[in-house]
Amino acid sequence: MRFEVITHESGNQTVLVPRGTAEPPKPAKRKGTVAWYVPYTAVHPATAESAPRDAVWIDVSNSDIAYYVALLDIWKRGETFALLEHDVLCRPDIIQEFEDCPEPWCLYGYDSMCHPQCQEAWRNQLGCTRFRSELIAVVPDALSSIPADNWDWHEMCNGVGENLRAAGFTHHWHHPPAEHHRETHRI
Ligand SMILES: [Zn+2]
Ligand SMILES: [Zn+2]
Repeated sequence: MRFEVITHESGNQTVLVPRGTAEPPKPAKRKGTVAWYVPYTAVHPATAESAPRDAVWIDVSNSDIAYYVALLDIWKRGETFALLEHDVLCRPDIIQEFEDCPEPWCLYGYDSMCHPQCQEAWRNQLGCTRFRSELIAVVPDALSSIPADNWDWHEMCNGVGENLRAAGFTHHWHHPPAEHHRETHRI
């Protein structure tokens, strides 16, 4: 990824991070029971091609807490939903397993994980994760009760995870892991 630092006449500077020019695909009519969302700051073609056709893309590039606000809004709707982050690739078997698995909180690890035994440290990750409506109904304040210090997208997943665990829920890993391209390719 290329970055650009612009120096203004005043001497102050602006950092420009390119977002790419691609627009997200228009969501098709909902196909399954899971509402899919793709929070994004850039549209990566590989992710766009892999994402469920009925996924709603949410531009969260406006602020570091935009992802939190998006999730707060999704949570309020109370329906079963899944997240695919913009640097993760979806697969047909992922879509199917998220439809079928009765567990309330399901997720895929990433193929970029260093060692299998390190996976558990990322159990709160949201990059390819599905929550069922039954869980949301039990913990309706899982998002709204997160303190403002943890609204930043780096911290938010742990705030959600800790609130769900405090309510007695446990994550359910699915396999094989999802491909995590980490925005390393050009956009
Ligand atoms: Zn599951
Ligand atoms: Zn490791």
